[in-house]
Amino acid sequence: MRIAILKERAAGENRVAGTPETVGKFAALGAELAIEAGAGEGAAISDAAFAEAGARVSTGPQVVEGADIVLGVQAPDPLALAGAKPGAWVAAMFDPFRDQARVDAYAGAGFEALAMEFMPRITRAQSMDVLSSQSNLAGYKAVIASADAYGRAFPMMMTAAGTVQAARVFVMGVGVAGLQAIATAKRLGAQVSATDVRSATKEQIQSLGAKPVFVENVAGIEGEGAGGYATEMSEEYQRAQAELVSSHIAKQDIVITTALIPGKSAPRLVSDAQIASMKPGSVVFDLAVSQGGNVEGSVADKTVVRHGVKIVGYANIAGHLAADASALYARNLYNFLSAFWDKETGRPVLDAEIGDAVRLTQGGRIVNERLLGS
Ligand code: NAD
Repeated sequence: MRIAILKERAAGENRVAGTPETVGKFAALGAELAIEAGAGEGAAISDAAFAEAGARVSTGPQVVEGADIVLGVQAPDPLALAGAKPGAWVAAMFDPFRDQARVDAYAGAGFEALAMEFMPRITRAQSMDVLSSQSNLAGYKAVIASADAYGRAFPMMMTAAGTVQAARVFVMGVGVAGLQAIATAKRLGAQVSATDVRSATKEQIQSLGAKPVFVENVAGIEGEGAGGYATEMSEEYQRAQAELVSSHIAKQDIVITTALIPGKSAPRLVSDAQIASMKPGSVVFDLAVSQGGNVEGSVADKTVVRHGVKIVGYANIAGHLAADASALYARNLYNFLSAFWDKETGRPVLDAEIGDAVRLTQGGRIVNERLLGS
């Protein structure tokens, strides 16, 4: 049973799908590990550390030669997998709704694509959930990056030279990233408020000591759909939300947007007119910048200045914390495959609930219901 880990090829991708810890754990299950030289560089893991943990460090086509399973952060080009076993599994993030061409290429190449972002949000899969592990770090980093871009301090400071006011931070979208953003901004001493379309988040916001800002008395405000995810909201709701948010945003120093709807473009939450209402020097951080953007005018990996307000967004924010993001991502992969490890055959055998959810392609065809239905 061979597992291969490739160096990531996508621009700005510093993460790696394995760590010495997970390599050692897979080896303890009886797997042989091969890793491409330099794969851990962006996450500060040396080839020597991987070798010490039991991996064969190699280059070129040898890395995937005879592999039963390939692990990736972003799914590799299937052309890079020539030499892997026919029908080999590739466990990685495929961005399946937006990168249909890649899914087709995997079907054509006969590999079994396992999309880690399709892991079901069920209790036993929590430790395998890459969206949570990466979003949590993203929420933290969005606050740190915003604090860096902001020309003032976050906490209130009473000094002999006068008082510095606490920054006002507004978090829009209170999923995993938003909750971590609230907690981080609170820890830095900001005055924090937050909003979401799912009313269940109101209590979570309060429990972190922040102020909920919610649309009330509008039909269909319960924006929670399947799996605890948000649904698209009615026009009436969107109008009421825009009005409420407009008056609130004008008083904020930092706005952090995290809103996503699975399978759809990110909802537009902040308009140019709302940005114009903010004080010069304010910061708007768009965590959804590479999924269509929550903020008008945001550009991935650029700081755009509009009306004196800085609009910031990173294409790959978890990649800015590559060491921690890799450690958690690699554990997600290990927790996933090891949970299904069949001792007799020495390889994982997925069950229907999780296997059918994450499997995109098999036997040369697209087999995933979410994709076929979309
Ligand atoms: P997400 O990344 O899909 O979206 C981020 C947030 O944006 C969500 O809270 C969503 O409601 C919100 N949003 C969408 N449209 C909006 C709009 N127009 N205005 C304001 N906010 C908007 O969400 P996520 O972080 O993946 O979390 C989704 C849910 O899944 C949460 O309830 C979370 O607690 C839950 N979850 C469960 C598990 C588990 O049980 N294993 C694991 C992780 C997350």
